[in-house]
Amino acid sequence: MSNKYFTILFILLLTSNQLYANPTNMKKGFLPNQEQLNIASLNGKYRILLETIYIPEDDINELVHEDGFYSTHKYKNRVMPEGYYTYSNSHWFVWKEIDLVHSGYKRISKSIQLKEKSIKLEMEFLKKNENWAEESIEVIAKGIQFIESFTGVPYPGNQTYRIFETQTLQTLGRANSSRMLIASPPKGSIWTQMHEIVHIWNVGTKPRWISEGLANFISYLIMRDHSFSYIDGDRYENWIGKWFKERIQKKDLPLNDPFDQYDKIAQGKALVYWCILYELGGESLIKDIFTSLVSEKNLSNRKVSSIFNKYEITHSDKLLSGWITKGNYYGNFASDYGEVRHSLPEIDILLTSYVNYILSPKNQNTVKVWAKWSDEKWYLGILPGSCPKGKIVLFEDGDMSCTMNSKIVQDILPGSKDVKYGSRVLAKWRNGKYYPGTVSQIENKNYTILFDDEEKLSVELKDLRLIPENELKDGIN
Ligand SMILES: [Zn+2]
Repeated sequence: MSNKYFTILFILLLTSNQLYANPTNMKKGFLPNQEQLNIASLNGKYRILLETIYIPEDDINELVHEDGFYSTHKYKNRVMPEGYYTYSNSHWFVWKEIDLVHSGYKRISKSIQLKEKSIKLEMEFLKKNENWAEESIEVIAKGIQFIESFTGVPYPGNQTYRIFETQTLQTLGRANSSRMLIASPPKGSIWTQMHEIVHIWNVGTKPRWISEGLANFISYLIMRDHSFSYIDGDRYENWIGKWFKERIQKKDLPLNDPFDQYDKIAQGKALVYWCILYELGGESLIKDIFTSLVSEKNLSNRKVSSIFNKYEITHSDKLLSGWITKGNYYGNFASDYGEVRHSLPEIDILLTSYVNYILSPKNQNTVKVWAKWSDEKWYLGILPGSCPKGKIVLFEDGDMSCTMNSKIVQDILPGSKDVKYGSRVLAKWRNGKYYPGTVSQIENKNYTILFDDEEKLSVELKDLRLIPENELKDGIN
């Protein structure tokens, strides 16, 4: 659940004159030694060094960073050659090619027909991730076609769009109109890919609450309309839960933070805000903001307000308050701002639970539960409400998730009749924490537990909590 929204570091200005660097004619300057070459080439993954370019201000904390393939372009007033870019030791290294044979990498491609032209998607990936790559190139093709038809804005990217798996990316993905860097799976999930392709259209546009918000929300629409599957930590209930946690802790920041710290803002807030806009103005409001952004490159709050005003929203003047600008929230739901004409029920049900629970103390329910978090461990929490898959769990550390009923265990003492040989239980370990296991022996009110990690311990009834029997069925549907 790490932050998936990143800075676009490089704005490319593509030049029309192609420049072909000669591999035997590397420009003079920095001459890396063998060790530096090994690092910068990722131990030979890249071969034939075309050029090194000293740009110390791009410095990074990593030993080496891969940045994918670039056509000839201008960057910081220099003409940068075509090639694969890595960054190490204050220099950009430009390589002619990936050594596919020796590096364990593979390349696949796919042609797709778009409104105005056909393009080729090309993906380079680690061979062991071939299934992921084949799925990725298919969903990216569908996603690009979706965005074209949804927004009406033709694909603005390159004829060959390159997708590039990288193991050195600190974030999950990054994209512009010529290529996408995507972290190896599971980090480089479908949702991340769908987020990134929105940046083919809006790379470099401002403010980030709009360019990233659109990437968030349009990717959500693609996932929903194609029933693409999420990985665990990607789910919107987790993202929204994170934001409510920050609201409780009073760490909430407006999306338009003046210091451009968008990455520090809980992304659930961005998702909810765009859902509210959709519920009020539907697809046409989203498209309107999208097309204004890509044509004008920079939208002021005043411009955004003028777009809101076209949609018969009762309180469109207040739609920025608390969300985008500092101050109180005028409302938490789309219905606080006007008539909901395009409901998103799956978001509404979550939001209603969170808002009712977190923001109205009288609704607090004190039945404690143990619930399984995505790390497969069980933690104490309470149940503020229901959600599509089961119950919303608010954990003691403030994390929230929508959890299947079979992964929730009431924190109540079981009756001695209910605990049998073979019962699945959570049992207290020596450190005072509870772990899952199976009752393997019952003798004189002592229960021997065979924990799932194969440790054994004898405990009393008071140290047991029964796991519902349907836990084993998890994952079937
Ligand atoms: Zn983004």
